[in-house]
Amino acid sequence: MTSTAEHLRNALDGRWRDIKNAMRARLSDEIFRPHYTPNTVIARAKVAEQLKIMAAAGAAEDGFRKEHGGNGDVGAAITQIEMLAMSDLSLMVKAGVQWGLFGGAIENLGTERHHKAYVRRLIDLDLLGCFAMTETGHGSDVQSLETTATYDPETQEFVIHSPTPSARKDYIGGAAETARVATVFAQLITPDGEGHGVHCFVVPIRDDMGNDMPGVTTSDCHYKGGLPGVDNGRIVFDHVRVPRENLLNRYADVAPDGTYSSLIENPGRRFFTMLGTLIRGRVTVGGSAAAAARVALDIATRYALERRQFEAPKSDEEVLIMDYLVHQRRLLPLIAKSYALQFAQNELVAKCHELQTSDDPDAEEQRELEARAAGLKAANTWHASRAIQEAREACGGAGYLAENRLIALRADTDVFTTFEGDNHVLTQLVAKELLTAYADDIKGMSPVEWVRFAANYAGERVLKRTAAETIIQTVLDTRQDNEEEGSLFNRGTQVKMFEDREEYMLASV
Ligand SMILES: Cc1cc2nc3c(=O)[nH]c(=O)nc-3n(C[C@H](O)[C@H](O)[C@H](O)COP(=O)(O)OP(=O)(O)OC[C@H]3O[C@@H](n4cnc5c(N)ncnc54)[C@H](O)[C@@H]3O)c2cc1C
Repeated sequence: MTSTAEHLRNALDGRWRDIKNAMRARLSDEIFRPHYTPNTVIARAKVAEQLKIMAAAGAAEDGFRKEHGGNGDVGAAITQIEMLAMSDLSLMVKAGVQWGLFGGAIENLGTERHHKAYVRRLIDLDLLGCFAMTETGHGSDVQSLETTATYDPETQEFVIHSPTPSARKDYIGGAAETARVATVFAQLITPDGEGHGVHCFVVPIRDDMGNDMPGVTTSDCHYKGGLPGVDNGRIVFDHVRVPRENLLNRYADVAPDGTYSSLIENPGRRFFTMLGTLIRGRVTVGGSAAAAARVALDIATRYALERRQFEAPKSDEEVLIMDYLVHQRRLLPLIAKSYALQFAQNELVAKCHELQTSDDPDAEEQRELEARAAGLKAANTWHASRAIQEAREACGGAGYLAENRLIALRADTDVFTTFEGDNHVLTQLVAKELLTAYADDIKGMSPVEWVRFAANYAGERVLKRTAAETIIQTVLDTRQDNEEEGSLFNRGTQVKMFEDREEYMLASV
């Protein structure tokens, strides 16, 4: 018979629960036991060994289309990388960079020639890569990157160059030591001197012996706040030449004579279309942070059910710390939020799977997916920072010992609020998306509708001082009609309250 706990876990695990169970079994192997060392040499070697075992077990194939040598199960691919967070976040990030970011750029921005040349090799780790977008000068504003890729029709090559010190590629996972090839984001310039915006190029950065290629200078970011197993580094290019074919040309191409062509005319729209195809990284980072939060809350809950402090009145037994209300109020809301975020993440992964495995994804749905991925990444990673810190404190001094995992979880997830899009910048992206959709609705209104709209919103809604007032009124209104449906415990009521709150806030803004 299935126990309540199993039912609950099945519900929380969602559509890819079999993958999760298989990963749980794999991660129980000794080699994947959580370990912690701030020593980057040991940590990097350990992660490299673990990654090889994952590759040999076929862990990466789901992320790539069948015709490119994979299995084409996007949801399974995201789920597997997320689950690595249960073992070690450095491993999760290394796998995410190799198969999600580097592999994702080849798969989604490249065409047949790139798929043939690289996909199978990168799945098997015969080709180690990195994703070189961020520069010292620009991280959030990636449209302003300074690295240039200037086309030379004489030799039919692109010349990749870092024209200023701030054009140096920075923080790049894999660039310090392991990557042989980089997918480099650079401003494409044609022979007529015209700039066409940021495009992505495959650039070899190291030879088989691990030495920098001519014109390439790599260096190591060394010690960071966490993720000791990830070799983050910097890359500077000095007129490095790559063949014309190394442009990942799914969305734009340059002919041998230097003529530029793209089906998407607007450079801004073209760039954001390219970025949109790389959404999986963002989805995985949010999901992994949430998984790390669950690990921490699990540790803190188990501790609270064992640990006793202070003798109970009229008893010679000490009180279980979980029996203190304040302790419950610290942990239970965070556990509840973890459940909620997990269900939301499951829906996001399913939607991402649907759109990325469809031959003709709906543009509107894609835009909505991008906004949701951005919002949920911010919510998940901020939740992780908070929950892990609370879990650490809830375990007292024991929580501060490395062997109990919490300090590593805290240190490793810290940067999840920054990479794959800084959380504040992502939140602005969500706001922009919501306001644009709202503006579109308003634009289509007739004069009569305008008057009604102004009267309703300006009169009744915007003038209300707090959103809470509207929500309480909504509950009261519904309750009068139907006690059952309006009950705060009714799921429909809860959803409606959230919807009303969103609508109210949007209208107010
Ligand atoms: C460990 C690690 C690994 C990384 N791995 C990679 C990798 O593999 N590949 C890669 O390409 N990059 C990688 N990055 C880079 C990462 O993606 C960037 O650090 C991130 O995008 C933020 O850019 P930034 O550091 O330039 O910060 P900035 O963009 O300078 O942001 C600094 C602050 O300014 C705020 N800010 C910025 N713009 C606005 C605005 N418009 N309105 C309000 N506030 C704003 C931000 O909220 C933030 O708090 C990695 C970074 C780290 C630390």
